[in-house]
Amino acid sequence: SKVPFITLNNGVAMPQLGFGVWQVPDDEAAQTVTTALEAGYRSIDTAAIYGNEAGTGKAVTGSGIAREELFVTTKLWNSEQGYDSTLRAFDASLGKLGLDYVDLYLIHWPMPAEGTFVDTYKAFEKILADGRAKSIGVSNFRTEDLERLIGETSVVPAVNQVELHPQLQQSELKEFHAKHGIATEAWSPLGQGKDLLQAPTVVAVARKHDRTPAQVVLRWHLQVGNVVIPKSVTPSRIQENIDVFDFELDADDLAAFTALDEGRRLGPDPADVNS
Ligand code: NAD
Repeated sequence: SKVPFITLNNGVAMPQLGFGVWQVPDDEAAQTVTTALEAGYRSIDTAAIYGNEAGTGKAVTGSGIAREELFVTTKLWNSEQGYDSTLRAFDASLGKLGLDYVDLYLIHWPMPAEGTFVDTYKAFEKILADGRAKSIGVSNFRTEDLERLIGETSVVPAVNQVELHPQLQQSELKEFHAKHGIATEAWSPLGQGKDLLQAPTVVAVARKHDRTPAQVVLRWHLQVGNVVIPKSVTPSRIQENIDVFDFELDADDLAAFTALDEGRRLGPDPADVNS
């Protein structure tokens, strides 16, 4: 496929566009992920809490695509933070996926009030050293969480996966990432398919390029350097969301997108997620 790669801070190549499977039931995940693989996606983003690692893994291992051409991400759920519990939870995730390694393992939320993410990450460093995750990183970390993590552990996270879309552009966090070589991965890149896709600016840019609102939003992410993992269970949209590598937004379009930033979260503030 035509999906470009970005190079993580450990030299590993990660597809800049992948497929997210939050809210896909386990018994539908194999079919949906298979549709995505057939459309050309090679990166899949799941998590223990999504309850669909088994279905996701079934599609991956049954695809006939060489393992080294696939990039599988999963995440450690909050209740399993801590050194020993992380090692156990990772084993359980690998077992459900039916894989002997994942490409990327993420701490799902920092839970800053708990103060357990440093111990958790030390288990991640062991998993990395054992070759059972090719890269390790975090999700929903704020600059202060990253500062603490980098100060108290040895491996700078390869990725921070955070809520990011044109209405929440996360510029300050992205500056911190750039300074430390952390890749920015955008969750809910389409704003969960809600009013973002009807915003007049988005609709106008889409019309100008004869594309859909979702396609120009994804194009914006790619051109500002984000990794994206749009989700859909609809085959035509799964295809549409990867057909974004044969056109480009121009400087006027990008400026119009910049103006959409209003610091609007769809999900919780990471400071408030502590269990
Ligand atoms: P998204 O922004 O990808 O939006 C998905 C929704 O948008 C779909 O359910 C559908 O309603 C709509 N949609 C998709 N394609 C469309 C198209 N072409 N045209 C019109 N509407 C379309 O939202 P998301 O699922 O929340 O985020 C993507 C992925 O990010 C998730 O599946 C998951 O893997 C990840 N994620 C991670 C976290 C985290 O805490 N780390 C949180 C949320 C999501």
